Amino acid sequence: MSNETLRQELVELDKKYFIHPTSSLQDQQENGPGIIFDKAEGVYVTDVNGKKYLEGMASLWNVNIGYGRKEIAEAAKEQLEKCAYVSSFTGLSNEPAIRLAAKIAEITPGDLNGVFFTSGGSESNDSAYKFVRHYWKVKGKPEKTKIIARERAYHGVASGSTSATGIKSFHEFTTSLAPGFVHIDPDDPDAFRKAIEEEGADTIAAFLTEPIQGAGGVNFPKEGYLKEIRKICDEYDILFIADEVISGFGRTGKMFACEHYDIVPDVMIMAKGISSGYIQLGAVVLREHVHQDLIKYSKGVLMHGLTYSGHPTACAVGLKNIEIMENENMVENSKVMGDLLASKLKELQKETDIVGEVRHLGLVGAIELVKNQETGERFKEKLSVKVVAKARERGLILRNVVYWDKDTIVYSPPLCINEKEVNEFVDILKGAIFEVQTSL
Ligand code: PMP
Repeated sequence: MSNETLRQELVELDKKYFIHPTSSLQDQQENGPGIIFDKAEGVYVTDVNGKKYLEGMASLWNVNIGYGRKEIAEAAKEQLEKCAYVSSFTGLSNEPAIRLAAKIAEITPGDLNGVFFTSGGSESNDSAYKFVRHYWKVKGKPEKTKIIARERAYHGVASGSTSATGIKSFHEFTTSLAPGFVHIDPDDPDAFRKAIEEEGADTIAAFLTEPIQGAGGVNFPKEGYLKEIRKICDEYDILFIADEVISGFGRTGKMFACEHYDIVPDVMIMAKGISSGYIQLGAVVLREHVHQDLIKYSKGVLMHGLTYSGHPTACAVGLKNIEIMENENMVENSKVMGDLLASKLKELQKETDIVGEVRHLGLVGAIELVKNQETGERFKEKLSVKVVAKARERGLILRNVVYWDKDTIVYSPPLCINEKEVNEFVDILKGAIFEVQTSL
Protein backbone atom coordinates (compact mmCIF):
# COMPACT_ATOMS: atom_id res chain seq x y z
CA MET A 1 0.00 0.00 0.00
CA SER A 2 1.40 3.41 -0.93
CA ASN A 3 1.74 6.06 1.75
CA GLU A 4 -1.03 8.09 0.16
CA THR A 5 -3.42 5.11 -0.03
CA LEU A 6 -2.72 4.39 3.63
CA ARG A 7 -3.34 8.03 4.50
CA GLN A 8 -6.65 8.06 2.65
CA GLU A 9 -7.80 4.94 4.45
CA LEU A 10 -6.83 6.41 7.82
CA VAL A 11 -8.54 9.72 7.04
CA GLU A 12 -11.85 7.97 6.36
CA LEU A 13 -11.61 5.86 9.52
CA ASP A 14 -10.58 8.91 11.55
CA LYS A 15 -13.60 10.91 10.37
CA LYS A 16 -16.01 8.12 11.13
CA TYR A 17 -14.69 6.84 14.45
CA PHE A 18 -12.15 9.07 16.20
CA ILE A 19 -13.62 11.90 18.26
CA HIS A 20 -10.62 14.16 18.82
CA PRO A 21 -9.92 16.09 22.00
CA THR A 22 -10.09 19.91 21.76
CA SER A 23 -10.76 19.87 18.01
CA SER A 24 -13.48 21.06 15.63
CA LEU A 25 -15.90 18.27 14.72
CA GLN A 26 -16.92 20.09 11.49
CA ASP A 27 -13.36 20.80 10.47
CA GLN A 28 -12.52 17.13 10.89
CA GLN A 29 -15.42 16.13 8.60
CA GLU A 30 -14.51 18.73 5.98
CA ASN A 31 -10.74 18.43 5.97
CA GLY A 32 -9.91 15.20 7.79
CA PRO A 33 -7.28 15.09 10.52
CA GLY A 34 -4.61 17.83 10.29
CA ILE A 35 -1.59 15.57 10.32
CA ILE A 36 -1.43 11.82 10.84
CA PHE A 37 1.83 11.21 12.66
CA ASP A 38 3.84 8.10 12.07
CA LYS A 39 7.15 8.37 13.88
CA ALA A 40 9.24 10.71 15.97
CA GLU A 41 12.89 11.21 16.90
CA GLY A 42 14.65 13.94 18.90
CA VAL A 43 12.78 17.19 18.24
CA TYR A 44 11.19 15.92 15.02
CA VAL A 45 7.92 14.20 14.17
CA THR A 46 7.14 12.64 10.79
CA ASP A 47 3.75 12.07 9.18
CA VAL A 48 2.54 9.03 7.22
CA ASN A 49 3.60 10.69 3.96
CA GLY A 50 7.13 11.08 5.28
CA LYS A 51 6.96 14.85 5.83
CA LYS A 52 9.11 15.89 8.77
CA TYR A 53 8.27 18.66 11.23
CA LEU A 54 10.22 20.29 14.04
CA GLU A 55 7.86 19.96 17.03
CA GLY A 56 8.00 23.48 18.44
CA MET A 57 5.43 22.61 21.10
CA ALA A 58 6.94 19.29 22.25
CA SER A 59 3.45 18.08 21.26
CA LEU A 60 1.36 19.41 24.18
CA TRP A 61 4.22 21.09 26.09
CA ASN A 62 5.08 17.66 27.39
CA VAL A 63 7.71 15.70 25.45
CA ASN A 64 10.50 17.32 27.44
CA ILE A 65 13.31 14.83 26.85
CA GLY A 66 12.44 14.56 23.12
CA TYR A 67 11.06 11.72 21.07
CA GLY A 68 12.28 8.20 20.40
CA ARG A 69 14.36 7.41 23.46
CA LYS A 70 15.03 3.68 23.42
CA GLU A 71 15.94 3.59 27.13
CA ILE A 72 12.38 4.55 27.98
CA ALA A 73 11.01 1.82 25.74
CA GLU A 74 13.35 -0.65 27.42
CA ALA A 75 12.39 0.46 30.93
CA ALA A 76 8.71 0.09 30.02
CA LYS A 77 9.23 -3.31 28.39
CA GLU A 78 11.19 -4.58 31.37
CA GLN A 79 8.49 -3.49 33.81
CA LEU A 80 5.64 -4.69 31.58
CA GLU A 81 7.20 -8.14 31.51
CA LYS A 82 8.17 -8.22 35.17
CA CYS A 83 5.00 -6.78 36.70
CA ALA A 84 2.94 -4.60 34.38
CA TYR A 85 0.38 -3.54 36.91
CA VAL A 86 -0.57 -4.07 40.53
CA SER A 87 -2.87 -2.13 42.82
CA SER A 88 -1.67 0.48 45.29
CA PHE A 89 -5.02 0.59 47.11
CA THR A 90 -5.35 -0.42 50.78
CA GLY A 91 -1.64 -0.02 51.44
CA LEU A 92 -0.37 -2.25 48.62
CA SER A 93 2.80 -1.06 46.93
CA ASN A 94 5.45 -1.60 44.26
CA GLU A 95 9.08 -0.61 43.78
CA PRO A 96 8.82 1.80 40.81
CA ALA A 97 6.08 3.82 42.58
CA ILE A 98 8.09 3.94 45.81
CA ARG A 99 11.29 4.98 44.04
CA LEU A 100 9.60 7.59 41.85
CA ALA A 101 7.86 9.13 44.88
CA ALA A 102 11.23 9.38 46.65
CA LYS A 103 12.84 10.85 43.53
CA ILE A 104 10.13 13.49 43.18
CA ALA A 105 10.57 14.43 46.85
CA GLU A 106 14.30 14.84 46.13
CA ILE A 107 13.94 17.10 43.09
CA THR A 108 11.04 19.29 44.20
CA PRO A 109 11.84 22.44 46.19
CA GLY A 110 11.64 22.66 49.98
CA ASP A 111 9.90 19.92 51.89
CA LEU A 112 7.44 18.89 49.18
CA ASN A 113 7.65 15.21 50.05
CA GLY A 114 4.37 13.31 50.00
CA VAL A 115 3.47 12.07 46.50
CA PHE A 116 0.04 10.94 45.29
CA PHE A 117 0.04 9.57 41.72
CA THR A 118 -2.52 10.12 38.98
CA SER A 119 -2.62 9.60 35.21
CA GLY A 120 -2.43 13.26 34.17
CA GLY A 121 -2.93 16.94 34.86
CA SER A 122 -6.71 17.09 35.19
CA GLU A 123 -6.80 14.20 37.62
CA SER A 124 -3.95 15.80 39.57
CA ASN A 125 -5.88 19.05 39.82
CA ASP A 126 -9.12 17.46 40.95
CA SER A 127 -7.19 15.31 43.41
CA ALA A 128 -5.39 18.35 44.83
CA TYR A 129 -8.66 20.20 45.39
CA LYS A 130 -10.07 17.19 47.23
CA PHE A 131 -6.91 16.83 49.29
CA VAL A 132 -6.93 20.45 50.47
CA ARG A 133 -10.64 20.36 51.29
CA HIS A 134 -10.17 17.09 53.16
CA TYR A 135 -7.20 18.60 54.98
CA TRP A 136 -9.29 21.48 56.33
CA LYS A 137 -12.16 19.16 57.14
CA VAL A 138 -10.06 16.87 59.30
CA LYS A 139 -8.44 19.90 60.91
CA GLY A 140 -11.88 20.96 62.14
CA LYS A 141 -12.51 23.66 59.51
CA PRO A 142 -14.90 21.97 57.06
CA GLU A 143 -16.22 25.33 55.87
CA LYS A 144 -12.83 26.11 54.27
CA THR A 145 -13.73 24.84 50.79
CA LYS A 146 -13.31 27.61 48.22
CA ILE A 147 -10.49 27.64 45.74
CA ILE A 148 -9.31 31.04 44.56
CA ALA A 149 -7.98 30.81 41.00
CA ARG A 150 -6.80 33.36 38.43
CA GLU A 151 -8.42 34.57 35.25
CA ARG A 152 -6.62 33.19 32.15
CA ALA A 153 -5.71 30.04 34.12
CA TYR A 154 -5.85 26.57 32.58
CA HIS A 155 -6.11 23.60 34.91
CA GLY A 156 -7.73 20.83 32.86
CA VAL A 157 -11.09 19.41 31.89
CA ALA A 158 -12.30 17.25 34.78
CA SER A 159 -15.21 18.63 36.78
CA GLY A 160 -13.11 20.57 39.27
CA SER A 161 -10.29 21.54 36.94
CA THR A 162 -12.66 22.90 34.25
CA SER A 163 -14.32 24.95 36.95
CA ALA A 164 -10.94 26.20 38.18
CA THR A 165 -9.94 27.16 34.64
CA GLY A 166 -10.26 30.86 33.95
CA ILE A 167 -10.82 30.70 30.18
CA LYS A 168 -14.47 31.26 29.33
CA SER A 169 -14.69 29.03 26.27
CA PHE A 170 -13.95 25.96 28.39
CA HIS A 171 -16.85 26.90 30.66
CA GLU A 172 -19.17 27.39 27.72
CA PHE A 173 -18.70 23.78 26.60
CA THR A 174 -20.67 22.58 29.59
CA THR A 175 -23.84 23.71 31.32
CA SER A 176 -22.89 23.07 34.92
CA LEU A 177 -19.67 23.94 36.66
CA ALA A 178 -18.60 22.77 40.10
CA PRO A 179 -19.27 25.29 42.86
CA GLY A 180 -16.60 26.76 45.09
CA PHE A 181 -14.23 28.37 42.57
CA VAL A 182 -13.62 32.11 42.58
CA HIS A 183 -11.64 33.81 39.81
CA ILE A 184 -9.69 36.95 40.41
CA ASP A 185 -7.64 39.45 38.43
CA PRO A 186 -4.53 37.51 37.47
CA ASP A 187 -1.90 40.20 38.02
CA ASP A 188 -2.74 42.08 41.18
CA PRO A 189 -2.13 40.45 44.56
CA ASP A 190 -4.55 42.97 46.06
CA ALA A 191 -7.30 41.18 44.14
CA PHE A 192 -6.55 38.17 46.35
CA ARG A 193 -6.83 40.32 49.49
CA LYS A 194 -10.11 41.69 48.20
CA ALA A 195 -11.45 38.19 47.52
CA ILE A 196 -10.48 37.18 51.06
CA GLU A 197 -12.36 40.17 52.43
CA GLU A 198 -15.42 39.39 50.35
CA GLU A 199 -15.51 35.62 50.78
CA GLY A 200 -13.99 35.36 54.25
CA ALA A 201 -10.71 33.54 54.93
CA ASP A 202 -12.62 30.94 56.92
CA THR A 203 -14.32 29.79 53.67
CA ILE A 204 -11.15 29.56 51.56
CA ALA A 205 -9.20 26.31 51.31
CA ALA A 206 -6.54 27.31 48.84
CA PHE A 207 -5.12 29.68 46.30
CA LEU A 208 -4.43 27.89 43.00
CA THR A 209 -2.10 29.05 40.26
CA GLU A 210 0.17 28.00 37.45
CA PRO A 211 3.45 29.80 38.26
CA ILE A 212 3.51 30.62 34.55
CA GLN A 213 0.15 30.53 32.78
CA GLY A 214 0.57 28.26 29.77
CA ALA A 215 -2.56 27.71 27.68
CA GLY A 216 -3.74 31.22 28.62
CA GLY A 217 -0.91 32.64 26.51
CA VAL A 218 2.38 32.06 28.37
CA ASN A 219 1.86 34.83 30.90
CA PHE A 220 4.63 35.36 33.41
CA PRO A 221 3.77 36.61 36.88
CA LYS A 222 4.50 40.25 37.58
CA GLU A 223 7.61 40.93 39.67
CA GLY A 224 7.00 39.88 43.28
CA TYR A 225 3.47 38.60 42.58
CA LEU A 226 3.91 34.98 43.68
CA LYS A 227 5.94 35.94 46.77
CA GLU A 228 3.18 38.32 47.81
CA ILE A 229 0.56 35.61 47.23
CA ARG A 230 2.62 33.20 49.35
CA LYS A 231 2.71 35.82 52.11
CA ILE A 232 -1.04 36.42 51.99
CA CYS A 233 -1.69 32.65 52.12
CA ASP A 234 0.41 32.40 55.29
CA GLU A 235 -1.25 35.43 56.78
CA TYR A 236 -4.76 34.01 56.33
CA ASP A 237 -4.13 30.29 56.77
CA ILE A 238 -4.83 29.45 53.13
CA LEU A 239 -2.95 26.70 51.31
CA PHE A 240 -0.96 27.56 48.18
CA ILE A 241 -1.35 25.13 45.26
CA ALA A 242 1.07 25.48 42.33
CA ASP A 243 0.03 23.78 39.09
CA GLU A 244 3.38 22.94 37.47
CA VAL A 245 1.89 20.68 34.81
CA ILE A 246 3.54 22.69 32.02
CA SER A 247 6.23 24.54 33.93
CA GLY A 248 7.68 21.53 35.77
CA PHE A 249 10.48 19.18 34.78
CA GLY A 250 12.94 21.61 33.27
CA ARG A 251 10.63 23.50 30.94
CA THR A 252 11.68 26.92 32.33
CA GLY A 253 15.39 26.29 32.77
CA LYS A 254 14.98 25.13 36.36
CA MET A 255 13.48 21.84 37.44
CA PHE A 256 10.35 23.64 38.69
CA ALA A 257 9.20 27.18 37.92
CA CYS A 258 8.52 27.93 41.61
CA GLU A 259 12.31 27.97 42.05
CA HIS A 260 12.57 31.10 39.85
CA TYR A 261 10.21 32.92 42.16
CA ASP A 262 11.68 31.62 45.38
CA ILE A 263 8.47 30.15 46.73
CA VAL A 264 7.52 26.71 48.02
CA PRO A 265 3.84 25.90 47.55
CA ASP A 266 2.01 23.70 50.08
CA VAL A 267 0.79 21.50 47.25
CA MET A 268 2.37 21.02 43.83
CA ILE A 269 0.55 19.55 40.85
CA MET A 270 2.53 17.89 38.07
CA ALA A 271 2.03 15.81 34.90
CA LYS A 272 3.30 16.14 31.29
CA GLY A 273 7.11 16.38 31.73
CA ILE A 274 7.02 13.85 34.59
CA SER A 275 7.04 11.17 31.88
CA SER A 276 7.72 13.38 28.83
CA GLY A 277 4.49 12.01 27.40
CA TYR A 278 5.87 8.48 26.97
CA ILE A 279 3.09 7.27 29.23
CA GLN A 280 0.14 8.76 31.14
CA LEU A 281 1.31 9.99 34.52
CA GLY A 282 0.72 12.82 36.94
CA ALA A 283 1.17 13.57 40.63
CA VAL A 284 0.11 15.75 43.54
CA VAL A 285 2.91 16.52 45.97
CA LEU A 286 2.25 17.67 49.54
CA ARG A 287 4.54 19.56 51.81
CA GLU A 288 5.63 17.81 54.96
CA HIS A 289 3.30 19.80 57.25
CA VAL A 290 0.25 18.96 55.11
CA HIS A 291 1.21 15.30 54.85
CA GLN A 292 1.95 15.05 58.58
CA ASP A 293 -1.34 16.70 59.52
CA LEU A 294 -3.21 14.27 57.28
CA ILE A 295 -1.42 11.37 58.97
CA LYS A 296 -2.38 12.81 62.35
CA TYR A 297 -5.99 13.82 61.70
CA SER A 298 -7.34 11.84 58.76
CA LYS A 299 -8.62 8.66 60.32
CA GLY A 300 -9.57 5.48 58.47
CA VAL A 301 -9.23 4.95 54.76
CA LEU A 302 -8.38 7.94 52.55
CA MET A 303 -11.41 7.67 50.29
CA HIS A 304 -9.64 8.90 47.19
CA GLY A 305 -7.70 6.75 44.75
CA LEU A 306 -7.45 5.97 41.05
CA THR A 307 -7.00 2.49 39.63
CA TYR A 308 -3.78 3.76 38.06
CA SER A 309 -2.40 5.67 41.07
CA GLY A 310 1.13 4.34 41.38
CA HIS A 311 1.00 2.34 38.13
CA PRO A 312 4.31 0.40 38.14
CA THR A 313 5.00 0.71 34.41
CA ALA A 314 4.09 4.41 34.32
CA CYS A 315 6.33 5.01 37.34
CA ALA A 316 9.22 3.04 35.80
CA VAL A 317 8.95 5.29 32.75
CA GLY A 318 8.81 8.39 34.96
CA LEU A 319 11.99 7.32 36.76
CA LYS A 320 13.88 6.68 33.53
CA ASN A 321 12.66 10.01 32.16
CA ILE A 322 14.08 11.94 35.13
CA GLU A 323 17.31 9.94 34.94
CA ILE A 324 17.78 10.93 31.28
CA MET A 325 16.94 14.55 32.08
CA GLU A 326 19.56 14.62 34.84
CA ASN A 327 22.28 12.65 33.06
CA GLU A 328 22.06 14.83 29.97
CA ASN A 329 21.75 18.17 31.77
CA MET A 330 18.52 18.95 29.99
CA VAL A 331 17.41 21.51 32.56
CA GLU A 332 20.60 23.49 31.92
CA ASN A 333 20.13 23.02 28.17
CA SER A 334 16.62 24.40 28.52
CA LYS A 335 18.07 27.60 29.95
CA VAL A 336 20.92 27.94 27.44
CA MET A 337 18.91 27.05 24.33
CA GLY A 338 15.90 28.93 25.65
CA ASP A 339 17.93 32.14 25.96
CA LEU A 340 19.48 31.61 22.52
CA LEU A 341 16.11 30.98 20.88
CA ALA A 342 14.52 34.01 22.55
CA SER A 343 17.42 36.29 21.59
CA LYS A 344 17.04 35.23 17.94
CA LEU A 345 13.28 35.68 18.10
CA LYS A 346 13.78 39.18 19.51
CA GLU A 347 15.78 40.04 16.39
CA LEU A 348 12.56 39.47 14.46
CA GLN A 349 11.22 42.62 16.10
CA LYS A 350 13.71 44.59 13.99
CA GLU A 351 13.61 42.40 10.89
CA THR A 352 9.83 42.28 10.54
CA ASP A 353 7.02 44.80 10.98
CA ILE A 354 4.62 42.63 12.96
CA VAL A 355 6.55 41.03 15.80
CA GLY A 356 5.85 42.70 19.13
CA GLU A 357 6.85 41.49 22.57
CA VAL A 358 8.85 38.27 22.82
CA ARG A 359 8.94 36.78 26.32
CA HIS A 360 10.34 33.53 27.61
CA LEU A 361 11.78 31.56 30.48
CA GLY A 362 13.90 28.60 29.43
CA LEU A 363 12.15 26.82 26.60
CA VAL A 364 8.68 28.20 27.03
CA GLY A 365 7.83 31.49 25.38
CA ALA A 366 5.45 33.68 23.46
CA ILE A 367 5.60 36.03 20.51
CA GLU A 368 3.00 38.79 20.18
CA LEU A 369 1.89 39.80 16.70
CA VAL A 370 1.06 43.49 16.39
CA LYS A 371 0.05 46.12 13.87
CA ASN A 372 2.10 48.77 15.60
CA GLN A 373 5.35 47.67 17.20
CA GLU A 374 5.51 50.84 19.28
CA THR A 375 2.02 50.90 20.77
CA GLY A 376 1.32 47.17 20.65
CA GLU A 377 -1.92 47.80 18.73
CA ARG A 378 -3.31 44.59 17.22
CA PHE A 379 -4.62 43.69 13.80
CA LYS A 380 -8.36 43.04 13.65
CA GLU A 381 -7.88 39.59 12.18
CA LYS A 382 -5.82 37.14 14.17
CA LEU A 383 -2.54 36.87 12.28
CA SER A 384 -1.19 34.19 14.58
CA VAL A 385 -3.63 31.71 13.00
CA LYS A 386 -2.05 32.36 9.60
CA VAL A 387 1.54 32.36 10.81
CA VAL A 388 1.06 29.06 12.64
CA ALA A 389 -0.51 27.53 9.51
CA LYS A 390 2.32 28.79 7.27
CA ALA A 391 4.95 27.57 9.72
CA ARG A 392 3.33 24.16 9.70
CA GLU A 393 3.45 24.02 5.89
CA ARG A 394 7.15 24.83 6.16
CA GLY A 395 7.76 22.12 8.74
CA LEU A 396 7.47 23.75 12.17
CA ILE A 397 4.64 22.99 14.58
CA LEU A 398 3.58 25.85 16.84
CA ARG A 399 0.41 26.93 18.56
CA ASN A 400 -1.44 30.21 18.84
CA VAL A 401 -3.58 31.81 21.53
CA VAL A 402 -6.43 34.08 20.44
CA TYR A 403 -8.52 34.33 23.60
CA TRP A 404 -9.41 37.86 24.67
CA ASP A 405 -7.53 40.39 22.56
CA LYS A 406 -4.53 38.10 22.26
CA ASP A 407 -2.84 37.32 18.94
CA THR A 408 0.00 35.28 20.29
CA ILE A 409 2.24 32.48 19.07
CA VAL A 410 3.42 30.21 21.86
CA TYR A 411 6.31 27.77 21.77
CA SER A 412 7.69 24.99 23.92
CA PRO A 413 10.08 22.66 22.05
CA PRO A 414 11.70 19.56 23.57
CA LEU A 415 14.47 20.36 26.07
CA CYS A 416 17.03 18.41 24.02
CA ILE A 417 16.94 20.99 21.20
CA ASN A 418 20.39 22.05 19.93
CA GLU A 419 21.75 25.18 18.29
CA LYS A 420 21.26 23.91 14.73
CA GLU A 421 17.63 23.07 15.50
CA VAL A 422 17.14 26.47 17.16
CA ASN A 423 18.35 28.10 13.93
CA GLU A 424 16.02 25.95 11.87
CA PHE A 425 13.13 26.90 14.18
CA VAL A 426 13.87 30.61 13.74
CA ASP A 427 14.42 30.38 9.96
CA ILE A 428 11.11 28.62 9.38
CA LEU A 429 9.18 30.97 11.64
CA LYS A 430 10.79 33.99 10.00
CA GLY A 431 9.78 32.70 6.56
CA ALA A 432 6.22 32.18 7.74
CA ILE A 433 6.03 35.66 9.28
CA PHE A 434 7.39 37.30 6.12
CA GLU A 435 4.91 35.40 4.00
CA VAL A 436 2.00 36.62 6.12
CA GLN A 437 3.40 40.15 6.40
CA THR A 438 3.76 40.41 2.60
CA SER A 439 0.17 39.26 2.10
CA LEU A 440 -1.24 42.10 4.23
N1 PMP B 1 -2.80 22.07 34.27
C1 PMP B 1 -2.10 22.74 33.34
C2 PMP B 1 -1.31 23.94 33.76
C3 PMP B 1 -2.10 22.32 32.01
O1 PMP B 1 -1.42 23.00 31.09
C4 PMP B 1 -2.83 21.16 31.67
C5 PMP B 1 -2.82 20.60 30.25
N2 PMP B 1 -2.46 21.43 29.24
C6 PMP B 1 -3.56 20.51 32.66
C7 PMP B 1 -3.50 20.98 33.95
C8 PMP B 1 -4.41 19.31 32.35
O2 PMP B 1 -3.62 18.23 32.10
P1 PMP B 1 -4.18 16.95 31.30
O3 PMP B 1 -4.50 17.43 29.91
O4 PMP B 1 -3.04 15.98 31.38
O5 PMP B 1 -5.37 16.46 32.02
